[in-house]
Amino acid sequence: MSSPLAVADTTLPAFIWDETLIRRYDLSGPRYTSYPTAVEFTADFGPGDMIKAAERSRVAGGPVSLYTHLPFCAHLCYYCACNKVITKKRDKAMPYVERVLREAAMQSELFGAHRPVQQLHWGGGTPTFLPKDVMEYLMAGYGELFNLQAGDERDYSVEIDPREVDQDTLPTLWQLGFNRISLGVQDVNPQVQKAVNRIQPREMTESVLNEARRIGFRSINLDLIYGLPYQTPESFAETLDSVIEMSPDRLSVFSYAHLPDRFYPQTRIQGDTLPSPQQKLTILHNTINRLLEAGYEYIGMDHFAKPDDSLAIAQREGRLHRNFQGYTTHSDCDLVSLGVSAIGQTDDAYFQNNHDLPAWEQAIDAGQLATVRGVELTRDDQVRRWVIGQLICQFRLDRKQFQMAWGGEFDGYFADELRRLRPMIQDELIADDGQVLQVQPAGRLLIRAICQIFDLYRKEGASQRFSRII
Ligand code: SF4
Repeated sequence: MSSPLAVADTTLPAFIWDETLIRRYDLSGPRYTSYPTAVEFTADFGPGDMIKAAERSRVAGGPVSLYTHLPFCAHLCYYCACNKVITKKRDKAMPYVERVLREAAMQSELFGAHRPVQQLHWGGGTPTFLPKDVMEYLMAGYGELFNLQAGDERDYSVEIDPREVDQDTLPTLWQLGFNRISLGVQDVNPQVQKAVNRIQPREMTESVLNEARRIGFRSINLDLIYGLPYQTPESFAETLDSVIEMSPDRLSVFSYAHLPDRFYPQTRIQGDTLPSPQQKLTILHNTINRLLEAGYEYIGMDHFAKPDDSLAIAQREGRLHRNFQGYTTHSDCDLVSLGVSAIGQTDDAYFQNNHDLPAWEQAIDAGQLATVRGVELTRDDQVRRWVIGQLICQFRLDRKQFQMAWGGEFDGYFADELRRLRPMIQDELIADDGQVLQVQPAGRLLIRAICQIFDLYRKEGASQRFSRII
């Protein structure tokens, strides 16, 4: 059963929903915010390796991206799979931030304080859990330790929980240099909100969004989740209509993976209240239809943007990249990451902090880095990361560009992968004219399955450690 659906897009292939192919290829797979993926990180990689990686990064120079993980939340959302600490005690924020600044001092010395911070992101948890003075203290500290930027090309973003916003929050963030925000919404339906313990009236979200726009924030993103309790195709269509009326610049629409054995909060969600797999597919299909109809472009992997948003422009110009924050226009930034569980990245390494808050605190108090695992990339990892990045961001791979970037011949290097790609070529997920591998309309939604062909660590295919593709 397939229903072709045209997309007005000059450079990318149109989009086609083909349910037979979706069922054939919808295995579990990584989201490729890194390659190798986080499951390949090992405990063999410790602070000493991280120091060497940071030194190599400093010698190479260039701009950096600065990520801070702020783990506190005042309320527990039952679908949550994040690393967070549920507490009502706001006085926990300052000691945490003081430690983040101690960690920042170590990392600034290692990576180089002079390098321009082109991208900055506060994630969580709930960054807006921090009282105003703590936010100011953190940013002032960063101002002393790093080379923060003020120009228009900077991309300083923060995740906002509209329930944790008062009249000072947005003006404070703006004054501190943030120019982009992402609002957590998930669903505006009251029954769904109650079932996931996230009561957030539509008007609350709308007034935060309007205020942000009035102040001057750009690329305002809204997060939605489908597959939550009591959602139906009809109820989610209403949610989408409400959200489209608010007219955010970007939308992320994630699939909820119900894994109560792995994520304890999810045990509060009753399995029999969840939409069926078929209903989920219908919701996704309708969502893509509706957003395209409303003028959004499908960027890929759950992300949509208005045609004049920087993500859509970057994709059209072949400049889109992917990192732990999802799609980004800043490709050349090494990632300096601070806080519990934060993951950093250089050209040839990934490294992650301890995800246990007391253990992270202990390391920082001892004046040490809190790196507990990571991976050093081989040349093969780097080559494959580039290939996967081309496919997942630009939906195409040009053999000439490969040769220019890596100095080798694509067909010789990937002979086995090209053989395994044949069924996907027959199924018209991807086409190969001998020069360019071009993802086809039916393959855009299944891009993770295509990327998996080039993933050396999952040659056998699906792995239960990842969520399903759709
Ligand atoms: S989903 Fe976000 S806001 Fe909700 S508990 Fe998890 S981290 Fe906190």
